[in-house]
Amino acid sequence: MLVTGASRGIGAAVARLASSAGYAVAVGYHSDDAAAEKLLAELAGPGAAFKADVGSEAAVERMFTEIDNQFGRLDALVNNAGLLEGGSRVDQIDERRLRRVLDANVVGPFLCAREAVRRMSTAHGGNGGAIVNVSSAASRLGSAGEYVDYAASKGALDTLTIGLSLEVAGEGIRVNAVRPGFIKTDIHARGGDPERLARLTPAIPLGRPGEPEEVAEAVVWLLSAKASYVTGSFIDIAGGR
Ligand code: NAP
Repeated sequence: MLVTGASRGIGAAVARLASSAGYAVAVGYHSDDAAAEKLLAELAGPGAAFKADVGSEAAVERMFTEIDNQFGRLDALVNNAGLLEGGSRVDQIDERRLRRVLDANVVGPFLCAREAVRRMSTAHGGNGGAIVNVSSAASRLGSAGEYVDYAASKGALDTLTIGLSLEVAGEGIRVNAVRPGFIKTDIHARGGDPERLARLTPAIPLGRPGEPEEVAEAVVWLLSAKASYVTGSFIDIAGGR
């Protein structure tokens, strides 16, 4: 299984759970070598770390070739890498920010899905597999006044989920998505708003932010044979939002 953005947060929780479920895990990450190495040491089974900016076609192709060489096959992809920049209305967002968000959150998952399908699809001689895209409740809610660009990037990921699931349904590949709400990870502080979770907790019907492990449970279930009749579907993990 390849999990992109697995050096911390939701991706790290998915990698840990998948490893304990028996997967060999390819840990994708962007920059934090120490965090990726630390996670590898925490895995229950075999794993290896692969540094790649998912927004770069050359880097993604290199990562998949390295995974081919090291693991020999790919059964599952979790398109989890993503980022946001907060605190802006649409009339304040510049081109640099738009391209940074869309490269990581849209171009990256498309490129990784392409490479995975080329390996998994029975039409390409593969054995089938499963893909889970980590979208966001933001795709439904729009994130007005904070990050409509990020919400729109997750809307694109939802559409990729539906369209790709239909393209490869007859080729042994299931494609689904999870849509987390507010989850306790570094993404909020890195997006410039470390107090976001505390400030918005009163708006969460279940009364608390979610844990990365609660998202990981749904991701690993969607990838498993227990979800064998599920494709083109979404699981909202957003505490009722
Ligand atoms: P996080 O703690 O900030 O972790 C993000 C991960 O993505 C890190 O491993 C980071 O690698 C990697 N990454 C970022 N840009 C990348 C790029 N261009 N290429 C490759 N890797 C890249 O975030 P998180 O909260 O766990 O979020 C994971 C996913 O869940 C994201 O897609 C996010 O949009 C989604 N999500 C999160 C929440 C939430 O409340 N936390 C809610 C809904 C959806 P480095 O550490 O090496 O930089």
